[in-house]
Amino acid sequence: MTEKSGQCLCGAVKFTATLKNGDVGVCHCSTCRRGTAGSYFAIDCGDTLKFENEAALGVYNSSDWAERGFCKSCGSPIFWRTKDRKTNIVSVNAFDDVDALRLDHEVFIDEKPGYYSFSEKTQQMTGAQVFEMFANAQKD
Ligand SMILES: [Zn+2]
Ligand SMILES: [Zn+2]
Repeated sequence: MTEKSGQCLCGAVKFTATLKNGDVGVCHCSTCRRGTAGSYFAIDCGDTLKFENEAALGVYNSSDWAERGFCKSCGSPIFWRTKDRKTNIVSVNAFDDVDALRLDHEVFIDEKPGYYSFSEKTQQMTGAQVFEMFANAQKD
């Protein structure tokens, strides 16, 4: 995949990242929904996320193992990343060009509220299954 560019709403945060693939994931967990005002549509960029101006970026320590980046000026959510920064799940809607991507998986499906659902056929995982997947990845 080629490198793509993106930015926050006001443009103070500009970044580039290389997508691992075209598979968009969406997280329904209560933290993502509260922090992004929606379900969090995002894409795995591995450790390739780079910023033009790190000073514009706020980082919120959202759990023992992960943190969330946002623009200090306009508040746009930019990324969720593990604290070792090896996994960066970047807001797909912050990219300039999101054509040719597809909705592939839904995580924390057990925390999805009943008032919406998506019609795409996706791979669905509960929160417990997501934690198990990360725990197995750590063993490799
Ligand atoms: Zn901004
Ligand atoms: Zn989430």
